[in-house]
Parts: sequence; C-alpha cells; structure tokens
Amino acid sequence: MQTLTADYLVVGGGAMGMAFVDELITDTDATVVIVDRCHQPGGHWNTAYPFVRLHQPSAFYGVNSRHLGSDAIDQTGWNAGLFELATSSEVCAYFDQVMQQRYLPSGRVQYFPMCEFDWDAATPTFRSLMSGETHQVEAGKIVDATYMHVTVPSMRPPPYAVADGVACVPPNGLPGVAGQYDDYVIVGAGKTGMDACLFLLKNAVAPSAIKWIMPRDSWMFDRAFIQPGKAFADVINRNFAAQTEAAADAESLEDLLEKVAATGFIMRFDEAVWPTMWRCATVTSAELEQLRRIEQIIRKGRVRSISTTEIALDDGTEPTHTGALHVDCTADGLERRPAVPVFDGNRITLQSVRTCQQVFSAAFIGHIETSYDDEALKNELCTPVPHPDDNRDFVRCNLANNRNAARWVAEPGLAEWLLHARLDGFSNPETTPDPRDPEVLAQKQSLSQIAEKAAVNMQRKLDETA
Ligand SMILES: Cc1cc2nc3c(=O)[nH]c(=O)nc-3n(C[C@H](O)[C@H](O)[C@H](O)COP(=O)(O)OP(=O)(O)OC[C@H]3O[C@@H](n4cnc5c(N)ncnc54)[C@H](O)[C@@H]3O)c2cc1C
Repeated sequence: MQTLTADYLVVGGGAMGMAFVDELITDTDATVVIVDRCHQPGGHWNTAYPFVRLHQPSAFYGVNSRHLGSDAIDQTGWNAGLFELATSSEVCAYFDQVMQQRYLPSGRVQYFPMCEFDWDAATPTFRSLMSGETHQVEAGKIVDATYMHVTVPSMRPPPYAVADGVACVPPNGLPGVAGQYDDYVIVGAGKTGMDACLFLLKNAVAPSAIKWIMPRDSWMFDRAFIQPGKAFADVINRNFAAQTEAAADAESLEDLLEKVAATGFIMRFDEAVWPTMWRCATVTSAELEQLRRIEQIIRKGRVRSISTTEIALDDGTEPTHTGALHVDCTADGLERRPAVPVFDGNRITLQSVRTCQQVFSAAFIGHIETSYDDEALKNELCTPVPHPDDNRDFVRCNLANNRNAARWVAEPGLAEWLLHARLDGFSNPETTPDPRDPEVLAQKQSLSQIAEKAAVNMQRKLDETA
C-alpha cells in the first residue's frame, strides 16, 4: 500500500469536484489528490445519453478559470436566438482539458481515475478498480464531491419489473435502435423524458408513435430568461421585477405560481393540468411547442411493471406490445439530500448554495474555503439549498437563495468576487446596472422595498401550506 500526502483529498472528479479544485489552484498553493471511479473527469456526463446537452448556456458552466464553448448564439434549431448549450462530449472534453492542461501541469494535483474511495475505512483509502492496488491518503482536509448523489438512467436497471421479451432501454440506447420499433413509450416526465421525446421528434418520429408516461406534470423554466450578457439583461431584469411583484401580491401558493407563469418565466405542458413537480427543468418555448405535439399522455402514476402486453401503473394499466420500445427516463438526477454543514472540521461536503446551480455552488464554496478561516462564518456564508421537488419548493428555494444572496452582498469583498465569477450567470460587470446612475438607484430602492414585501409574503404562503 502506498501513502500519499496532500492538503486536500477530493473524492469525486465530477463537475462539482472540478469547480471546487479550480478555486484552490487559482487562489492558493495547496496540493490536491483527486479520486474518481470514472475513467476521466466530468462524472455523470461520462455516462449520460449521447444526445444530452446542458440545459443552461455553456457560458456559465464548468470551472471559473476557463470558458466552455465560444459564447455563440444558436442560429438554428429549437434553441435559436439563445446562447449555445454544450453536448455531453463537449462537457467531458472540457473537463479533460482542465485536468490535462491546468491541474496536472500545475504539479500540485495528483489524479486517480478508475479508483473507488472507501468511506468506511478508518483512514482515507482508495483502491484501483483496475489493479486492485490500494492507496492511503494523509490529507489536511477531505472534500466530499459525491454527496449530491447524481443518478442517470444508464447507471442502474429500471426501478420497475420488466418481463422477458419487452424492449426497454435507457435513453443511451435510443440512437442505436433507429427504425427498429413502431412505437415508443417514454417513461418519466423530468428533463430526461423531455429530452428523449425531443430526440424522437427531431428525428421525424410521428408524435402519434410516442406515448409519454407522465406521473407528475412539471413546471419548466423558459430558457430565454436564463441567459447571460447584455443583449438579454433588460428583458431578464424586467422579468425579475415582475416576478418580485407577483411574489409580493400573491394571495396563495397557486396564485403565486400563476402570476409567475404569467410573466413567462415558468411554463407548463398543458394549461389545463396543474403541475405538481418543480425540478428546474429548462426548455425553450419552441421545445415546449414540439412536446405539445405528443397527445398520448398517460397520467396514471408511476410504472410498476411492464409485460409484453401491458404496463401496470399506480393508478391503472396501459396496453403495450412487443413492437414498442420502452425508454426508461426515471433516474433521479436531483436527489433531495439532507442539508449538512458544508464545513465540518477537516471535512468539506459540497452542496448547492443556489438552487440548481451546482457548479457555481462548488466554486463558491471553494472561494470561501480559500478566503476565510472562521468555520462558523464559512458555514453562515454557505447555507445549503437542498434540491427542489414540488411546488412549495419553488418558494422555499427562492427564499433560501434570496437569504444567501443578501448575506453575500453584505460581506465585504464577496460581491466583487461574484461580479467577476464566470459561473455566476446572474451578475457580471457588463450586465449589472451602474449603481451611481440616479435612475438605477431609484429603481433599485423601489425594487428592494417590493422584495422585502415579497419575502414576507412568500414565507407566509409557505407556512400556510406547511
Ligand atoms: C442529464 C443532466 C443534465 C444536467 N444539466 C445541467 C445544466 O445544464 N446545468 C447545471 O448547472 N446542471 C446540470 N445538471 C446538474 C448536474 O448534476 C451538475 O451540473 C453536475 O454535473 C453534478 O456534478 P457532481 O460533481 O455533483 O456529480 P457527478 O457528476 O455525479 O460526480 C460525482 C463523481 O463522484 C464519483 N464517485 C462517487 N462515489 C465515489 C467513490 N466512492 N469513489 C470514487 N469516486 C466516486 C463518481 O464517479 C462521479 O464521477 C444536469 C444533470 C443531469 C443529470
């Protein structure tokens, strides 16, 4: 057994581990050991379906120190007019370059791919999945970059029984079976299910050949409002002001969601069906228009089993046949993990500190680690915001994000870091209005009064629905 020494042992070379290490490399001379069971950095992006793309612009994904993509605006397709979205292979190539061109040449990072870390061992230990060789690590701090527990469908069998003779694949299998099936059954209505439907529609499969099993309808963000840069700033700022007014005036949780939907920020699949799921799925209105072409929507709860003739669901059955391909899109990529202190002695547990902004959160935690000593203050600045799941979470997460943001602005120097952090897609010098401009100042003061009223009202609505 070999013994390694480093200031930090980072378990998990996914997007969060990589974004955290970037801050260490930029701001300190710390040494780092990174251990991951994958063959290259990027975590779940290595096993994701081949047609997946980022849901959000590449412009604010990855690590702070290096651009991802070329900040191009898509000219064609269902994302036309908006910032480009990296494919999974671009994301993997990007993280590989960060490792090969920045971390390893720094001489401060040792990287151990294809290795399993043993959380139960008395001393930090990992084992090569190839050779079986074990290493012990004497590390100043251990960083858990696995805690968010991301799962994609190809990582595990479907969570329901599938009889012999039934064709059932994760979305990874879709491109390889083109033309072999008459019908498609998409199981799951989260972002992966949406992506699978869009893949079929984009490849000229008739909507009538698609059956979509939708246990819960989901709210979706309109990607047009999640864009960086000057060109979008006015529209986004106006939308944000409208949302804040909606939150201040809402009479109930439903009324709040209706009012926010009226601003265009969130959308639903079917205006006649009230969504109960809130999972940060992000689409364009053109994508939603495509999804709405699918008419066979099965709202009978979750799938329990699939036989060659029938799909059994919580609330009924649905006919199927051996000429249909069932696509399992049910994995939980956003598991709601209990919030734990980010900083706890020599353990750092990476979690979201802004809803569905995991890489930003990991970089932010990295910055706090490199800039502060007081553990209580560090935890105060890094209050976790667990992933959303249902409509109440829209309010819970917004309140928690706002509380964190207010705390950060009050912390000397932190606002300046945020302003220049590439991963903070919501503030940068180009789009932040000049606070010395009297008109901007007046608008800011008026919005902050409404924001205070909105915070009180949202907390009340949350308590009423507890
Ligand atoms: C399909 C999909 C699309 C997404 N799109 C976006 C997007 O557009 N924008 C956005 O901000 N977020 C997006 N997300 C959210 C996404 O989860 C995060 O951005 C991020 O990639 C998560 O990274 P992670 O490091 O937390 O997790 P992971 O990618 O899961 O990385 C964890 C790593 O830890 C390793 N590991 C775990 N246990 C061990 C062990 N015991 N020993 C060794 N290694 C271990 C795993 O091998 C893995 O490489 C998306 C998620 C999914 C599923």
